[in-house]
Amino acid sequence: MRIQHLINGQRVDSRETFVTVNPATQAPLAEVAAGGTDEVNAAVAAAKAAFPAWAGRPATERAALMRKLGELITRHVPELARTETQDTGQSISQTGKQLVPRAADNFHYFAEMCTRVDGHTYPTPTHLNYTLMHPVGVCALISPWNVPFMTATWKVAPCLAFGNTAVLKMSELSPMTAARLGELALEAGIPAGVLNIVHGYGRDAGEPLVAHPDVRAISFTGSTVTGDRIVRSAGLKKFSMELGGKSPFVIFADADLERALDAAIFMIFSNNGERCTAGSRILVQRTIYADFAAKFAERAKRITVGDPLDDRTIVGPMISPAHLAKVRSYIELGPREGATLLCGGVDRPAYAPALAGDLSKGNFVWPTVFADVDNRMKIAQDEIFGPVACLIPFEDEADAIAKANDIAYGLSSYVWTENIGKAHRVAAGIEAGMCFVNSQNVRDLRQPFGGTKASGTGREGGTWSYEVFLEPKNVAVSM
Ligand code: NAD
Repeated sequence: MRIQHLINGQRVDSRETFVTVNPATQAPLAEVAAGGTDEVNAAVAAAKAAFPAWAGRPATERAALMRKLGELITRHVPELARTETQDTGQSISQTGKQLVPRAADNFHYFAEMCTRVDGHTYPTPTHLNYTLMHPVGVCALISPWNVPFMTATWKVAPCLAFGNTAVLKMSELSPMTAARLGELALEAGIPAGVLNIVHGYGRDAGEPLVAHPDVRAISFTGSTVTGDRIVRSAGLKKFSMELGGKSPFVIFADADLERALDAAIFMIFSNNGERCTAGSRILVQRTIYADFAAKFAERAKRITVGDPLDDRTIVGPMISPAHLAKVRSYIELGPREGATLLCGGVDRPAYAPALAGDLSKGNFVWPTVFADVDNRMKIAQDEIFGPVACLIPFEDEADAIAKANDIAYGLSSYVWTENIGKAHRVAAGIEAGMCFVNSQNVRDLRQPFGGTKASGTGREGGTWSYEVFLEPKNVAVSM
């Protein structure tokens, strides 16, 4: 299979290509065009040319096209989910039931929203001020590999619905479903040049895209290191930076322990642990710590690791051999830092069934649980981005907040307690863009999604997406 760029409605090749592989088996999946400055320049020029007509269309017309694209995604859920699973190693139960359907929702949601954009008025005795909300122009949308289809649509939907045009760059590790998105967008009737897709490596395609003078806004999701680099090199542009995380999952002694256990397991092991909002630092009050740790490890041992196309699988392979090596290096580091390995490890544990056939070549790692973790250890401070849980004891409310905040990141957070006052105090005290109380991460498309500190700047979702994709203008009329 060949994956080409989509530039001005045309499928375009590059001189260079690279091969994307199935992380469960290492089988080649597709030969992908490796874009560089020429392809980026052509894509930005196409987006710039398409912008005036697209921005000038009534929002209701853009909304109709967004809905059509949402419907096409819904019609292709099984195919898209299977492709996404083969490309990323994310389990089919996640891609088929959650991630691809959510992509369709993104288009339906922003179709509705774009017809409701309004402004403000500020009357004074001498002047009437009112605001107009204009689309920004050409936007660079950059996606990571972990949930690529959902993330791409989370950016493309508001970007296009609000009247902007886009150049989308997917991760070189997971380009396949975005290529289908481009085809479905054309089928939906979205005009040539409105959505362009350039494939390629970050240094070859990403860098010229973010530095391009005709790009007015950048919506980036990826690592903190890359986000920092982009902000320094891109110049004066609008930014939304959705970066890494190491989110605290705080469980007080008075929590509903069974529900907290389920949610804690889900928030670190679903999506293979390759999840920006993973509850990877599980802070447990000392009085219940030993009991919680034993029960948590028992559950982690029962998690099915294996073929991501099997809908019983929870943890599939890591995205690449390089990422597997990184995750394994942290699993090896844990005991050297003084943590206690309760289950998992770099090699298949005796309690886990062997992976047969082609799966024996996959990038697998087993759900790993460390107890006796000190918050200052590297395994507690660095984003491992794999199925590795760190159980950290805390004493009281103040200690919980202090430990939750003793980290560079500030993306999500989770608080479990039956004491309502404590829940509100801790939710207010944690430095993070989001806090879920007695809940796993449940996404409402209206909520501001994003992080603080090293987890990023800007928020997207609902009217918060105006910040990135719309430019307010004040008009002052003398009376
Ligand atoms: P990454 O930063 O390596 O790459 C992300 C994207 O940026 C890729 O498309 C890559 O090709 C591109 N890129 C790389 N260098 C670039 C450059 N110099 N200029 C422009 N583009 C460049 O991240 P990754 O490894 O693909 O993704 C994992 C990271 O993403 C984790 O840190 C995770 O927490 C984060 N993430 C954050 C969120 C969020 O919403 N906050 C969501 C998902 C993933």
